[in-house]
Amino acid sequence: MTIRLYDTARAAVVPFLPAQTVRMYICGITPYDSTHLGHAFTYLSHDVLIRRLESLGHEVRMVRNITDVDDPLFEKADELGVHYLELADAEMARFHSDLQALDLRPAAAEPRASESMPAIISTIQILAEQGHTYAVDGTIFFDTSTFDGFGDFARADTVELISLSASRGGTPDDPRQRNPLDFALWKASASGEVSWEAPFGSGRPGWHIECSAMARKELGQGALDLHGGGSDLIFPHHQCEIAQSESAFGEPLANHWMHGGMVGYDGTKMSKSLGNLVFVSDLLKVVEPTAIRAALLAHHYRADFEWVDEEIEAVGSRIDTIADALERLGGPDPDEHRSAFEAALDDDLDTPAALRVIDDWCAEILASPENGDGSSAVALREATELLGITPLPRIS
Ligand SMILES: [Zn+2]
Repeated sequence: MTIRLYDTARAAVVPFLPAQTVRMYICGITPYDSTHLGHAFTYLSHDVLIRRLESLGHEVRMVRNITDVDDPLFEKADELGVHYLELADAEMARFHSDLQALDLRPAAAEPRASESMPAIISTIQILAEQGHTYAVDGTIFFDTSTFDGFGDFARADTVELISLSASRGGTPDDPRQRNPLDFALWKASASGEVSWEAPFGSGRPGWHIECSAMARKELGQGALDLHGGGSDLIFPHHQCEIAQSESAFGEPLANHWMHGGMVGYDGTKMSKSLGNLVFVSDLLKVVEPTAIRAALLAHHYRADFEWVDEEIEAVGSRIDTIADALERLGGPDPDEHRSAFEAALDDDLDTPAALRVIDDWCAEILASPENGDGSSAVALREATELLGITPLPRIS
């Protein structure tokens, strides 16, 4: 059984052929605000992939970092008058409780940038020794002209890349940069700002270098089986990670790149800066976690979509039908439905199709006489557990 999965680098659905122990790195959050549905959608897609790999006998070592050294976090902490690590700890606790409620597989490791400084500094040193950097006023920039095909990963022209960089934390207008797409590996800190000592001066790391260093630190050498995140990370973040890691370590960063679509709300992408966020913790107050999973999984992981509040109500009847079917003894021979369900998941993680298989399966079970041995319902339960949407037991 081979999973086929879209790979961003090749821009095609290709066989996904990981090692027996799958080394997976997913970019984590900057912990300065609560988990919204956009985060949940990305992490849930990866969670279904992990569950499917486990069902095929793989062991998955998933590492998800915590970006607790990042200018937006410092700014929010200043605004609130608290230490940035205090804010990070509080938001991480909320993040973990949200993800746990959604029954996401826990990360094997969650490296924090603030605790990974030696690895970050040594990666910058390697890049400097190999001629990939230049320094201006204590800030160390990555020289993108030393990396062939910088930008190819995003399949966009230079004008578009510059605009993406500007809108996603880059500084294409910084006059100190030789090229608008160059980026800071290490930023000199002004007095009073958060800083660490390094051989090249005190300061703080840029966001991109943190992931290159933490992925290497936690998952070791050799190309990762899969690197993932939201599609808004393709450029500049993941392109910068690729340029840094491949330049420093002389091998591909990842064999496969998986990116989740963006969730919109009120007509535009859900984002902190726009304030149009639907928080997981708010939804959890009114619906079961399984309903949130089922509602999100009704969308293909790569598709951008707009969340509408009614969606969570509509999913209730699907969950109720599953609950009814799971209590029945009758039903069709499960083999055909099980195969169709697995085929849907293995076809680029087509969870909407997998849910339709479950709907049909439930309908057949409910239309069957109650004279079976319950094996259809047992197999149906395995399928709903793979998606993490098994209804809670009913209290009678
Ligand atoms: Zn990252």
